[in-house]
Amino acid sequence: MNIHEYQAKAVLKEFGLPVSRGVAAFTVEEAVKAARELPGPLYVVKSQIHAGGRGKGKFKELPADAKGGVRLAKSVDEVRANAVEMLGNTLVTAQTGPVGKQVNRLYIEDGSNIQKEFYLSVLVDRETSRVAFVVSTEGGMDIEKVAHETPEKIVTFSVDPATGVMPHHGMAVAKALGLSGDLAKQAVNLTTRLYNAFVAKDMALLEINPLILSTDGQLRCLDAKMSFDSNALYRHPEIVSLRDETEEDPKEIEASRYDLSYIALEGSIGCMVNGAGLAMATLDIIKLYGEEPANFLDVGGGANKEKVTAAFKIITADHNVKGILVNIFGGIMKCDVIAEGVIAAVQDVGLSIPLVVRLEGTNVELGKTIIRESGLNVIAADDLDDAAQKIVKAVRESH
Ligand code: ADP
Ligand code: MG
Repeated sequence: MNIHEYQAKAVLKEFGLPVSRGVAAFTVEEAVKAARELPGPLYVVKSQIHAGGRGKGKFKELPADAKGGVRLAKSVDEVRANAVEMLGNTLVTAQTGPVGKQVNRLYIEDGSNIQKEFYLSVLVDRETSRVAFVVSTEGGMDIEKVAHETPEKIVTFSVDPATGVMPHHGMAVAKALGLSGDLAKQAVNLTTRLYNAFVAKDMALLEINPLILSTDGQLRCLDAKMSFDSNALYRHPEIVSLRDETEEDPKEIEASRYDLSYIALEGSIGCMVNGAGLAMATLDIIKLYGEEPANFLDVGGGANKEKVTAAFKIITADHNVKGILVNIFGGIMKCDVIAEGVIAAVQDVGLSIPLVVRLEGTNVELGKTIIRESGLNVIAADDLDDAAQKIVKAVRESH
């Protein structure tokens, strides 16, 4: 689960990390009021969306030469003018995709005088099974680009969970950023607090880009991207309450209610599969035959009729879906249960697009019989290869 920058900064503040003063605003009036509460004379008006690259982003509704999603303002009036331009408009960044995201919240922040911008992130490194730090002097920009073009400018190390964070980790950060003396001390302090926040809140990623050195010699977290391990959210109701569902795909929210693993994709073939491995193989084979999947959907091993019906509804609610492929291996989950679920769902929501069903495993004959006798217009397939070819053909013919 992701949260907004201003919420992430409140979490950082709780752990004693240096962040600028700022106030969130949902309306132009609130933005003006927020600016009045700040000392000035430099303010920053920051779009709050769950995507990075806002500074270099473009608003769809504004002329191409208009400023991006993070703007400096030199007076309360300028804050007002920027808020008017930004609120309600759609910001397109390198991370939002071409559709962009509507800006419904702003963060009005005290402006910093920046001497240097660094990059620092904390994440779970699956290879070492440890919390790792990624540090670079090349802050403020696209870290993937730095990693690609100048990998030597990125320093990484991980923390042994048995010892936890130690002063030498902070010194490694200081060294990577070329900081000494009091600044090295600040880096040690910062590293310790970031690690503690990361572990205490069960984060999956904490990215500070940029971490700045201000002209008055202070390290400060100027941006914050924070995401949390969803398996640990039950321990953090205060984090769950920060969830902004308008930032999430409504189909994915609905799927999470039924405990379905669902990821929306861009293609035209909706997939209902059990097991993550089989689901991935299904996506691969659809691509192999020249079409694109509309989603990844794993209904899980213990799916019942309700779950299958919910899954079917989520798939058909997607207007990009031009055909559906149900690919089920009946193990714990029996083929007849799937067949009944599919039929119940079709009767419930109707079916105006081709549906290919491939069943294999426990009670497969019973499942096939149920579908055949339902009188529904379902195309039966014998194996995965056959199923993929049939749905691709059906989708192409229906255009
Ligand atoms: P994004 O990464 O989404 O573009 P950032 O929060 O990193 O958004 O802001 C982009 C740039 O705007 C930063 O790299 C920094 O140069 C500048 N900036 C952001 N916040 C402030 C601030 N409070 N004071 C001064 N400059 C800022
Ligand atoms: Mg940033």
